[in-house]
Amino acid sequence: MIANISYVKEVMGELKAKKKYGQNFLIDFNIVDKIAKGACDKELKTIEIGPGLGSLTERLLEYSKDVDAYEIDIDMYERLKENLKDERLTLYHEDFLETDLSKYQEKINICANLPYYVTTPILFKIFESELDIKKITVMVQKEVADRLKAKAGSEDYGALSIEVQYLYDVKVEMNVPSSVFYPAPKVESSVISFTPIRERDREFEEEFFKLVKNCFRMRRKTLHNNLKDLYDEEMIKRIYGECGFKENIRAQQLSLDDFINMYKVIY
Ligand code: SAM
Repeated sequence: MIANISYVKEVMGELKAKKKYGQNFLIDFNIVDKIAKGACDKELKTIEIGPGLGSLTERLLEYSKDVDAYEIDIDMYERLKENLKDERLTLYHEDFLETDLSKYQEKINICANLPYYVTTPILFKIFESELDIKKITVMVQKEVADRLKAKAGSEDYGALSIEVQYLYDVKVEMNVPSSVFYPAPKVESSVISFTPIRERDREFEEEFFKLVKNCFRMRRKTLHNNLKDLYDEEMIKRIYGECGFKENIRAQQLSLDDFINMYKVIY
């Protein structure tokens, strides 16, 4: 059992956690087991980003067909290769951001306790990939989870929330105290999952997400102010009329369906 405080502390006494790689290791077996159980399927491969010492990897192997894990840090990679010998585990010493994901043609799950310094680029690499995903389950800073699942009207709601919620059913699986990590991070964490809800249509997405971003260009301004540099008054009148928007409405108050309706009027 890798996820326990004495083992992690012993190894980290030798290796020292590398801040530049966002290394905070999970030391609570029950939490790790619960994350892995909810994230995997016995008949599917799981991809893990940043296996570290293998706390999560060990449990992912328990609940998956097999596991491909990508680790940037050579010290972690070598230690894990030594410690977790399982023919169903393929370890890569690779920066996940540089990984070619086109080799995966089968349906997969993704699970990770993400390095917080690269959370957004890693998530966007996955979201924008051609991967056939059943479910993505990741540990992120609570603040990031709040933004991703935010609903219309809330402070955290923005273009990122809409884009992600258009593509996925977003669920906060659990909030996690910093005491389950070693070393303990300074921020609170949440496990969040993304389950695809649509057939992908990249051409539509590109145009649609551009529109959403434009509506939030100047957050404090009204929707009308953000639209007027892009469309003429006649078009803006049509949008407001057909979508039933009030005169001084802001992008932050619009639901996902409002944005879809707006897109339909414009295109
Ligand atoms: N999975 C382990 C656990 O839960 O105990 C470690 C999680 S730790 C938060 C993040 C891990 O990601 C570290 O092992 C770190 O070296 C690795 N990492 C950081 N940046 C990476 C990258 N770009 N690609 C792959 N691994 C990375």
